[in-house]
Amino acid sequence: MDLRFTPEQARFRADARSWLTERLEGPFAVVRGRGGPGDEHELFDERWKWERELGRANWIGLGWPAEYGGRGATLVEQMIFYEEYARAGGPGRVGIVGEGLLGPTIVHFGSDAQKQRFLPGILRGTEIWCQGYSEPDAGSDLANVQTRAERDGDEWVLHGQKVWTSLAHWAQWIFVLARTDRDAPKHKGLSYLLVPMDQAGIEIRPIVQITGHSEFNETFFDGARTPLENVVGEVNGGWRVAMGTLAFERGASTLGQQLAFENELRAITELARANGIATDPVMRQRLADAWITLRVMRFHALRTLPLLEHGVVGPATAIHKLFWASFHRALGELAVDVLGVSTLAPDEAAQRLTRLFLYSRADTIYGGSNEIQHNVIGEQALGLPREPR
Ligand SMILES: Cc1cc2nc3c(=O)[nH]c(=O)nc-3n(C[C@H](O)[C@H](O)[C@H](O)COP(=O)(O)OP(=O)(O)OC[C@H]3O[C@@H](n4cnc5c(N)ncnc54)[C@H](O)[C@@H]3O)c2cc1C
Repeated sequence: MDLRFTPEQARFRADARSWLTERLEGPFAVVRGRGGPGDEHELFDERWKWERELGRANWIGLGWPAEYGGRGATLVEQMIFYEEYARAGGPGRVGIVGEGLLGPTIVHFGSDAQKQRFLPGILRGTEIWCQGYSEPDAGSDLANVQTRAERDGDEWVLHGQKVWTSLAHWAQWIFVLARTDRDAPKHKGLSYLLVPMDQAGIEIRPIVQITGHSEFNETFFDGARTPLENVVGEVNGGWRVAMGTLAFERGASTLGQQLAFENELRAITELARANGIATDPVMRQRLADAWITLRVMRFHALRTLPLLEHGVVGPATAIHKLFWASFHRALGELAVDVLGVSTLAPDEAAQRLTRLFLYSRADTIYGGSNEIQHNVIGEQALGLPREPR
């Protein structure tokens, strides 16, 4: 397999690099390297401005078809952009849920009216979305969703509770998996609704995380309303749409992130050099091992991209999720071991690495936990008997 980039791809990389560098070393320098894991609460207004700047230059929705305002970029081009984004210190994206999850879902499952109404706000970076899937008793077992939506004239009325809703405190819209037929079997009575956040029937309560900040929230619906036409796909056919969204979540957007990990590994290595721990033979091995694992991860991503491009998903995305999530959690542990006692009186660099450690505990949970990925690999790659239900 030839893993080299073509001249067109090299040009695409050069364009992305110069655009990003010009802005992130110029007018948007304040957001450079900000808003990442454990830092999501910082500089929201500035990062929203940055989102709109990306939108103006058509860097949002890279992989979406051109007819819906995207660039129709290939997966390799998307990965190149994400790599350059990380290299330039691009900030945590406030529009990530809209671009990565809801947008592709609307492109794939939405009506023409929904495409016209909702895609431009994501592409321009003017509307922020959040994801209303998880509930206190519905996480890995997502089909157990109990939030209900009932018809009232030409509107849906929602009652129930979501939890772990990232960005809910900033979002203008939420997509909600809700039960619209309580008598139907678990997976069959659900619908996928688009609901405006700014209304009396929605209450948001921040959840303070181990990092000390609140990236996510509890979201309560008590008579919240949305127009009937805001159902994506069929009424009671929301499960299929919800699974489509999850496939997008585990797809291309995660493929370029090893460069962000590389930035973190560089910071850890610099610290190890500065505090002398880099002379410790075991620590040297762990640092080298992390570097090698990142190379393997990158080649794995490059190798699986053509498969994804041809719609052959299979267990490849489960393997990728398991791989990067486990790596990142181990990287957080390495960071703390290198920090040693300096975690007790941390300067800014040490604080960042401590936050990396704390936040990376979440990587093996969201987007499908490690155990769930193991189940997928067991069943789809190894052909093991299905998990008993
Ligand atoms: C940082 C972060 C952000 C998030 N953002 C959002 C968001 O924006 N919107 C949203 O809807 N949700 C969000 N989530 C929720 C996330 O999707 C859930 O946490 C995840 O699906 C796991 O569900 P749970 O927490 O209910 O754990 P559970 O499903 O209760 O799992 C508990 C434990 O049991 C294991 N387990 C469960 N089922 C099985 C099984 N069948 N086989 C083997 N082991 C199993 C799990 O792996 C886990 O270790 C977020 C979570 C995190 C950590």
